[in-house]
Formats: sequence, C-alpha cells, structure tokens
Amino acid sequence: MLYAAHPGLSGLLPLCDDFFSEFGENMSNADLFINETDYPDLPVADAVEHLRQALRCKTVSYTDTAKTDYSEFDRLHDVLKRAYPRIVSAATWETTGYSLLITLPGSDEGLKPAVFMAHQDVVPVKPGTFQNWRHEPFNGDLAEGYIWGRGAMDIKQMLIAHLEAAEYLLSRGKTPARSIIFAFAEDEETLSCGARRISDILKNRGIEAEYVLDEGAGEVTDAADYGAPGALVCPIGIYEKGYGDLRIGVRSRGGHSSDPFGGTSLGTLARAIAAIVENPPPPKLNAALKDALKLLTPYISEEPLRTWVNDTDLYENELLDYFMTKRSLYHQVSTTIAPTVINGGSPAANVLPQDMYAVINLRFAPQDTPESVLAHIKKLIPPECELNWDQQIGASRPSETDSLGFKTLRMVLEHYFDRLIFIPAQNKGATDCRSYEQISRCCLRFGPFLEEEEISAEGVHGTNERISVRAFAQGIRVITELMETTCMEESLHA
Ligand SMILES: [Zn+2]
Repeated sequence: MLYAAHPGLSGLLPLCDDFFSEFGENMSNADLFINETDYPDLPVADAVEHLRQALRCKTVSYTDTAKTDYSEFDRLHDVLKRAYPRIVSAATWETTGYSLLITLPGSDEGLKPAVFMAHQDVVPVKPGTFQNWRHEPFNGDLAEGYIWGRGAMDIKQMLIAHLEAAEYLLSRGKTPARSIIFAFAEDEETLSCGARRISDILKNRGIEAEYVLDEGAGEVTDAADYGAPGALVCPIGIYEKGYGDLRIGVRSRGGHSSDPFGGTSLGTLARAIAAIVENPPPPKLNAALKDALKLLTPYISEEPLRTWVNDTDLYENELLDYFMTKRSLYHQVSTTIAPTVINGGSPAANVLPQDMYAVINLRFAPQDTPESVLAHIKKLIPPECELNWDQQIGASRPSETDSLGFKTLRMVLEHYFDRLIFIPAQNKGATDCRSYEQISRCCLRFGPFLEEEEISAEGVHGTNERISVRAFAQGIRVITELMETTCMEESLHA
C-alpha cells in the first residue's frame, strides 16, 4: 500500500514512505490476543491453508500492465471458488478486468450494503533480495508459527479473512440481512484502476454503502504527544491526505555575473521557496482530531492539555500551536510543504544561471485544496515565477465517525485488543479506499492483524513478509464479529 497512482497523474505517488516506522515500539504493553476463545469452531487450519494457496499465486501487478501475468489472477480466482463453496452458491461473482466484485445479497433491501475490500495484487520481490527470504516468497510456507510470503501482510490475509468470515457465518446458518459486498481490485499497488471501476459499477447501480472496510492504519504508538503518556493509541484511518508536486519556474537568459541587474533566477527562486515555507496555510483542528481528543480525554493526565481538550473550540489555537511542535501530530493538522527538487543552477560561479525550476512537494490536509493552496502561494511569491502542477490530488473526505461502521469496528477492536485506544485519524498511506468515498460516508482503513513484534515493519513490501497464525486468526475473528453484528439477520433483529 505504499504507492498509488491517480487518474490523469503521471507515475507513482509515494504517499506513505514512513508507513510503519513507528510500529512495534509499544506493542509489548498491549495484549493483542484476548478473547481468542470466541468462535471456537472457527476453522483456523482451513483458513491458513487457504491463505497459503492464495500466496502461491504470483499476482504481482506492474504499472506497465503488459508485464503483469494475469493467469496468476485466474489461478487466485480458482483458489477462492474452491475454498468458499457457500459463498459461491449464495453470491454473484462478477469480474471487471481481473478485479472481483462478489455480492452476497441481503434479505432486507432497506439496509445499505457493507463493503469489505482488499486487493489481490502484490508488489514484486525487490531484485537481488530473493536469496534473503528465509522462505521463498511465493511458496506459502507455514513455519515457526508464521505463514510466509509476499502478500501475507499486504494484503491477501485480509482478502482471505473477509471470505473466511462470510463462509463461516453462512456455515453456522446465519443469513445476511444487509448485503455483503466483497471488492477485490487487481492493481492497488500500481494504477488503482480496478477499485475505481468497481466503485463506478456500484454507483451506477445506485448503491450507497453503510460502510466500507479496507486495509490501512494500525500502527500503535504511545499517546505521550497527546498528553497521555503510557496510553497506547491505534489509529483507524478515516481519510487520506492529498498530494501535489508544484513546479516553480523562473526564466533567465543568463549572462556574465558582473551584471546581475534585476537579480538572478536563482535569487528569485530562493525568495519564492523561502516565502512559501515561511508562510504555510494555517493549520486546523479537524473533526477527526477533535473526535480523537474526545476519546483520549479520560487518559490525558498532563497539563495544560488536560484543560485544553475539555474545550477544543475555546483552546483551538493553543492546541494547534502545540500540535505543530510535535512530529507525530503536525501533519494531521496542516498541509505539509517540502521543497525537494531544484534544477538549473549555474555551472560556474561567474556565470548567471539561466532558466531554473524547483519542485515543492505538498501533502494537503482536508481543510486545504490544491486550488486554495495555489492561490495562497501565488500571493507570496515574485510575480515572474511560473507555477504549474506536475501532479496533484486533494485530500479525501474524512469519514463520519458517528456511524454504524466506525462505532461497531471500534467496539469490536476493543473486544479483541486489550489496552489499545482506537481513534479516528489520518491514514498515512494511499489506499484504494478513497475510490469508494463516492458511494459511502464511512470509508474505514484498518487491517485488524496486529503483531506482537516488528513483524509488520519488516514485512510490508519487505523481505520475509509473513503473518503469525495467531494474528491472522485474531483478524478473522474481528471481521467475523463485525460482519455478524452489522450484517446478519440474527444479530440485527435480535
Ligand atoms: Zn496494500
């Protein structure tokens, strides 16, 4: 999930370089395996076998789709159809390209469907690292309590878990009242076209989803920066920041450095960059952060935060000033500005530089749009600077937390993971989920597969990607309970 491309944009957007950087620091304080005795007849061994079979399908996606071996996606579809006979007979299976749209119809048409997402594709094994894998990346080995392979953490475990949950509930005689839709795209790691196609199909059918659950978030951190040292927070991603590469060009014919009348292109560019960095758009306490603070209030022991969080409207400025000083929080309240590229400086000290450009990388907070930031920047810089987007996409729309999906997910997570406080937050990475914001006010990014150690940090897109059988089984329980509670007749009409 580290990369996503967007329509009309060239290349890949590296949106979540530091995705798992904080993962694992504090996991030893939490108990990630409570209530493991729930669903005692859950066929965990079968689920493990199904995941192993899925991992053996080399569903690597490439931006150049001519390189993608789509027969491996066909193989994966065969694996799924063999593994889940009850879903096969009860649901409609559709494909768009190699993306899968599986609909288990609910009995109550008055209920909006729930969408369970995951992507089928995986990233390639990095060239030259194959021999570093302790178990071959496409063997699906089961060893040392782990299921090994590319996709074990990103994100075939979630794809399999969704289907395991439904197959299990059907096997126990449960009937969906709310339609359950599985949406498994083929190219999340590259083009993200599959998710958009599926979402458009659903939209054209007039479907509005009660909630959508996709991969994401899940990194546990100490809440010290929130004034609650010792408390452990785990974010549920409810939106993604936007992305922009803004090119600033300055033209100059150059000439001899003894005659810099009117300044040089380098000087102008430097003034522009300094003005942009020194005058960022104002930060804002968004609804997600206010909700998070509300949930954290009982744990916040330090002043002045303890006073401030009791009235976030009154103390908004104080809170913002404080958050802007915290590395873990400033990006949640502000559009970040990072000058990253400069090009065209003079090759010699006594020669004036000619045409130059710089690129500013921006990550838009929900309160800003690419257009509003561009207008803001235009006012700051010398008028001779030319501004152009190399690529840009605004922040996604924050999901509603006062919703069945968010509230139930949070409740279920608290049931299976002890001592963690689940809060709504920005999702650090880009996922397919934002494509579904057109059909749901509640798009949640959370993969409920938490590990004791730094397995995740090592594994996602890395060498020796693997998931422990325990974390996999616990994740299946989370999804099973979420699906049962929010979708099944027996729970809804109880
Ligand atoms: Zn992913």
